[in-house]
Amino acid sequence: MPLADILGPVESGRVPPAPSAPAVSARVYRPLPAPELTWTPAVEAATAHLYERVKAVIPPVEWPFMAPYVKAINDLKTERNAVILAHNYQTPEIYNCVADFVGDSLQLAREATKVNAEVIVQCGVHFMAETSKILNPSKTVLIPDSRAGCSLAESITGADVRLLRQRYPGVPIVAYVNTSAEVKAEVDICCTSSNALAVVESLPGDTVIFLPDQYLAKYVASQTAKKVIAWKGACEVHERFTGDELRMYREADPEVQIIAHPECPPDVIAEADFTGSTAHMINWVRDHHPKRVVMVTECSMADNVQAELPDVEFVRPCNLCPHMKRITLPKILDSLLHMREEIVIDPAIAARARRSVERMVNLKN
Ligand code: SF4
Repeated sequence: MPLADILGPVESGRVPPAPSAPAVSARVYRPLPAPELTWTPAVEAATAHLYERVKAVIPPVEWPFMAPYVKAINDLKTERNAVILAHNYQTPEIYNCVADFVGDSLQLAREATKVNAEVIVQCGVHFMAETSKILNPSKTVLIPDSRAGCSLAESITGADVRLLRQRYPGVPIVAYVNTSAEVKAEVDICCTSSNALAVVESLPGDTVIFLPDQYLAKYVASQTAKKVIAWKGACEVHERFTGDELRMYREADPEVQIIAHPECPPDVIAEADFTGSTAHMINWVRDHHPKRVVMVTECSMADNVQAELPDVEFVRPCNLCPHMKRITLPKILDSLLHMREEIVIDPAIAARARRSVERMVNLKN
């Protein structure tokens, strides 16, 4: 079914006020001294098993620069009682060598609820760290660079959602997890690209508002009988792919397999042999073991799967997410040494946002 309506940022109109919340501040921690960061035989021996995991994608000449950071970060995790959650779009040395849990937004949100450590370091973007804090209010959640944003999360505010509610009273509102805590606090339920269709189908009535990704909304609308009202946001990485580009890959090799993320525009999805979340894309490659595959998503994910499946050839139309790439080994080390940047959310907003995220996490799918 085509989208019933698509709306963008509202420039005028009376915005219903946000609920007020008390101010909160970050905790104070003792900084630790910076460790030695030199390539020594001891560092080489301590990290050899980790280099085995990434040797297909990181040349030997680069490893001596990374290994001292990898060892220092892994030592500090023990000292700080910390775990690292890393998104599939993180670079291979982070994803394979310092992360305790890896996955897409839904997997990380679920892992965040099971964590026993006192500290969570989120290697991903800001809304992911907020989601971890929302689900773990008593823990310290750090993001190594608080400027790691997201074009989707930044396309909509809590005030926009309140105006949508005024305009469509009684219509349930679903927010893609790529939204701020303030937006999550205003909606009925969250979703990720893994479970968007299941979430939409779980809601009462024949119409839903789906925000903020217009392309994921279109993809969901193509698979449900419900009317979908969308918001005009887009991922700046996935919207750069085009159907023409994929047809060129197909013409060069008719056997190539093309798998795409549903944040891509419809002409891209129309060219794909499979469409799914990052977790579903990884599972598809593991299960089908294609000879050559084009992964139409952020480019580091192909590196991470390549490290696991070196005999699969990945064709890389390389679109990098500039926000994900703000997270680096030196910044993770700095984050653990100085315990910054801590995610702080007003408790009243966090409590309302948690209700929307928990409804998603608890949905059986
Ligand atoms: S890849 Fe797109 S959706 Fe993901 S963080 Fe970057 S801008 Fe946001």
